Amino acid sequence: MAYNFRWILLLFAFVFVLSCKNDDDEQVANDPTAENKKGLGTSAEDILTSNPYTRLTVEMAYSTTFEPTETAKTNFKNFIEERVHKPGGVTFVERVINDQPGAPFSIEEIIQIEDNIRTEYTEGNNLAVFVFFSNGRSSNDTETTVTLGTAYRNTSMVIYEATLKFLTDSNEELLPILESTVLNHEFGHILGLTNILDDDIHQVHEDPNAQKHCIVEECLMYFDATNVGRSDLQRMMQRAMVPELDPLCIGDLQAKGGR
Ligand SMILES: [Zn+2]
Ligand SMILES: [Zn+2]
Repeated sequence: MAYNFRWILLLFAFVFVLSCKNDDDEQVANDPTAENKKGLGTSAEDILTSNPYTRLTVEMAYSTTFEPTETAKTNFKNFIEERVHKPGGVTFVERVINDQPGAPFSIEEIIQIEDNIRTEYTEGNNLAVFVFFSNGRSSNDTETTVTLGTAYRNTSMVIYEATLKFLTDSNEELLPILESTVLNHEFGHILGLTNILDDDIHQVHEDPNAQKHCIVEECLMYFDATNVGRSDLQRMMQRAMVPELDPLCIGDLQAKGGR
């Protein structure tokens, strides 16, 4: 692969960031969107099971320049459908928005953007999840590490699409693999992986070296925080495939009513 060398140079520029916030203060009385402003992982069971929500809507917002690939959208949809019980179906709502000003974005700014542009909220028997494909980088990025995506509320996540395109040089083989991996990984955090709520009691497999990530190296939820040289990016590059959930993480989801 001709692009190997360039990727090796970028190996150190890769980290998944997990923001686990409890936004109880935000839950103002009578806020119709309060159900979507809870802490990360708290809606895992509601997403996985059919009671009380029989339907799931995934809203994806992006500007024309930062639309994810069709392959990644399909992979993401398949990943969700494989794990959840939603007899009423999983619906993807795609919305084209303007590029958002003020990049790079802090997570507080991402939350502001969400509050401005999100249109789908949990209501009746339909649970809504929001994904913003960011036109700017994370303000946490440094010369040696970048944030690819963050799951930051019970039904909210951001994909730093600008960063993914930069890292892959928009390579049409690699970009969808990286997009799919980050989408599925961040959604895994929304589903409570790994041990987000410290309720991983049936079979503990949180990596002591990488908080809230899985100890199994082949797993989608693995993140090597101790040895960046053997990062997820390198694994992806070697295999040119999207990592899947290992049986332990699938067991966690099944314990919460998932498939
Ligand atoms: Zn992560
Ligand atoms: Zn796992």
